[in-house]
Amino acid sequence: MSTRPAMSRPVKGASGKTGSWRVFKPVVDKEKCNACGICGMFCPDAVISDELEVDLDYCKGCGICAQECPKKAITMEREEK
Ligand code: SF4
Ligand code: SF4
Repeated sequence: MSTRPAMSRPVKGASGKTGSWRVFKPVVDKEKCNACGICGMFCPDAVISDELEVDLDYCKGCGICAQECPKKAITMEREEK
């Protein structure tokens, strides 16, 4: 369990495996990111690690992380199928 302060109480992979139906995926621009961790606090599925890696097996592509990032470092990119 993460030690970050929680905005909610997410459960990893609450939506189940999402790889087959997700339409957009978050991509972090590490040049812009200041590692504040806010994206991970808001992710409703708790799939952003402390190292800011997104677990794409479980990310549902909701875009909340991109919306909440104060540095606008996350872009939602359409999945290639
Ligand atoms: S919210 Fe944005 S700046 Fe903060 S850790 Fe996440 S990607 Fe980086
Ligand atoms: S898009 Fe962002 S906030 Fe939404 S599930 Fe994926 S990593 Fe979490």
